[in-house]
Amino acid sequence: MSNTVGGFLLIFSGPSGSGKDTILHRIVEKDEKVVVSVSMTTRAPREGEVEGKDYYFVTKEQFEANIEKGEMLEWAVYGDNYYGTPKTPVKKWIEEGKTVILEIEVQGADKIRQQFPDVRSMFLMPPSLHVLEERLRARKTNTEEDIKKRLETAKGEIERANDYDYIIVNNRVEDAVEDAMEIIMRHRRHLRELDSGDEFYYGYQYKDEVEYINEVARVLPPVEDFSERGLKDGRK
Ligand code: 5GP
Repeated sequence: MSNTVGGFLLIFSGPSGSGKDTILHRIVEKDEKVVVSVSMTTRAPREGEVEGKDYYFVTKEQFEANIEKGEMLEWAVYGDNYYGTPKTPVKKWIEEGKTVILEIEVQGADKIRQQFPDVRSMFLMPPSLHVLEERLRARKTNTEEDIKKRLETAKGEIERANDYDYIIVNNRVEDAVEDAMEIIMRHRRHLRELDSGDEFYYGYQYKDEVEYINEVARVLPPVEDFSERGLKDGRK
């Protein structure tokens, strides 16, 4: 199979409950070049989660042994658990020319940026904190304490959203999927142009992309505005 574009990594972050999984499922269905890395975690499986598909569920000891052996591309502690990206499959997919999406939280994203300065990143923003809370509650498996913790963490994560190349607001799933697909397509085109050494086109593409950020990816008002809106929604 001809493959003119090399593989690349793409970070996809967003608070727990922002809808990342739903969007990624749709993208994988639409685009055969996209693979979503399966993370390793020490948290217990939620109902319906499948070993090797949603996560590799391991013990704390197993996770720490993997860190020790240098088998994690990145890892972080989130809540009371370890989460991390196994290195070997990601390396293989990149060599195969795949678009590898890492669905990771903000600390992991920092570690990836340090290793791959050119990596692109997308942040999925919930429409408000109120909606986020509702979505977390709809997951019947989260305890009240867990929901509170996740909401607190979410506020901290939302403050980091400006570190991402793109912010996608998840108002309607279909729109968010379209935005993410557009970002993927554009990055592929960008890499193809870089590969062909067409610098003029690269310059144009960059300008194009800035306009794009404003038009399509719906850059948000400052985070404070968002928080206020979320709190107001919450009081309704
Ligand atoms: P959850 O428990 O809701 O499945 O995931 C909690 C958080 O951990 C989410 O923000 C998710 O994106 C993040 N996460 C999942 N896998 C990884 C990983 O491999 N590395 C890092 N750093 N975060 C991850």
